[in-house]
Amino acid sequence: MKIVIAKTAGFCMGVRRAVDMVLDASTRYQDPIFTYGPLIHNPQVLQMLEEKHIFRIEKIPEKGTGIVLIRAHGVPPQDQAALKDAGFKVINATCPRVLRVQVIINRYAKKGYAVIIAGDKDHPEVIGLLGYARGNGHAVDSMEALFALPGFENAIVVAQTTQNLSFYDEVKAWCRAHASHYRIFDTICGSTEKRQAEIRMLAEENDAVIVVGGKDSGNTRRLAEIAAGTGKPAVHIEDAAEIDYETLSQAKSVALTAGASTPNWIITDTYRKIENHLQKRHAVKAGLYFFRDFLLKTNILASAGAGSLTYACSKLQGNGQNLHHALVAMLYVLSMQILNNLFAIRSDRYNHPKRALFYKENRTYLWILAVLSGGAGLYLSFLSGPVSFLLLLIMSFLGLSYNLKIIPLSVGKGRIASIKDIPGSKTILIVSAWGTVTCLLPAVADHGNLLSVAAAFLFAVGLVFGRTAFLISWPSRETGLRVKKRFRFFWERNKALIS
Ligand code: SF4
Repeated sequence: MKIVIAKTAGFCMGVRRAVDMVLDASTRYQDPIFTYGPLIHNPQVLQMLEEKHIFRIEKIPEKGTGIVLIRAHGVPPQDQAALKDAGFKVINATCPRVLRVQVIINRYAKKGYAVIIAGDKDHPEVIGLLGYARGNGHAVDSMEALFALPGFENAIVVAQTTQNLSFYDEVKAWCRAHASHYRIFDTICGSTEKRQAEIRMLAEENDAVIVVGGKDSGNTRRLAEIAAGTGKPAVHIEDAAEIDYETLSQAKSVALTAGASTPNWIITDTYRKIENHLQKRHAVKAGLYFFRDFLLKTNILASAGAGSLTYACSKLQGNGQNLHHALVAMLYVLSMQILNNLFAIRSDRYNHPKRALFYKENRTYLWILAVLSGGAGLYLSFLSGPVSFLLLLIMSFLGLSYNLKIIPLSVGKGRIASIKDIPGSKTILIVSAWGTVTCLLPAVADHGNLLSVAAAFLFAVGLVFGRTAFLISWPSRETGLRVKKRFRFFWERNKALIS
């Protein structure tokens, strides 16, 4: 079975911005942090926030201290004022596209216009929008509700940003035909439009659709409704454990999409679980995949790559101890990769749950393997001479410090605590580390010719840069799909220019 991941699956700009803002606040401030209502409609993200001691308040207390973050949906202006009056510092993470609708409503409500909102009156975004309508706002979630409204002398028509496109088209068409003096605004978010259009197309092209996301999330539910509306089997799940494989047994290809509040790690996890389930049906394939996963997780494959590249670079430079150099590079890369994965177990719980679990369960063995290989690499480099040893020692310290919080709060203003928080640092560090062990160490040990060293160095860093910049650190079929998607996207945008 083929699994196609939707290009638009996952966090939209507004949700990503709100999540970033609350996580940023948790590193910058010592005060307690709350969100006013659930930050997003996704149980796993809410659990992650609670683990970081970011809790939510549902009602505004008379008195309070700390920081309250207003979520992407926005709130009525009265609530924002009440939060401040209660003593909270307010961070407004309302999505800019929702803010635009609030501004439109505010401007026209001030002039006495009635406000018609195509949306669910109980949805937090609509509740927030109605707050700007000065008591003359009307939410309609069906054509019947629209017909039931009285005629207004002056009115504006807007939509909840995640509203179903075809429903709003009907609302607009009716208003143009029966109340042409109403001012109509297109306020459905582009991200919602694209997501809905893509799922319609994918449902047509594939045999079944899986929609991942919170059951409370309106936009996720709408995606599932749109997919089901095409007549293809469509399932809405919060977690891969809910998949009913019987329903999908006849499908040759399945489209996988997710709502705007579904983080990437859940999409990735769902993809991997479906892939694993499919592999279990073929014992040989399953064994091969298990072996591949083991080599990837333990970083043996990456270290073998480093060894091979070093051997090739040594040959290019005309060195004499090619195997010795290759072994040093293998041991260094193995040790650094394992140690950094061990340090990153906490953050990997969300981005790479399988890897985090593997490292947690095998922590002791992996520590032993990392220390032994690191020590052996240093010893072998010492045999090549003191300069080689020193270079490898420096690269080892740099590699080890990547995940550790070594930057003082005052320097990074609380946002940058470790080298990994510096944008682009991963690529630069990996490229320089690999360039050093694959090229410079052999050159230093064998006193290589400058020109051949430069050629080998460019060859090595070029390859490593390409791998690091274009592929994420966990190669898999899914990564392949992403790369394919990126190339397809690039081609679609530039084909006219190229041809
Ligand atoms: S769906 Fe659009 S409007 Fe709503 S939060 Fe996301 S980006 Fe903003």
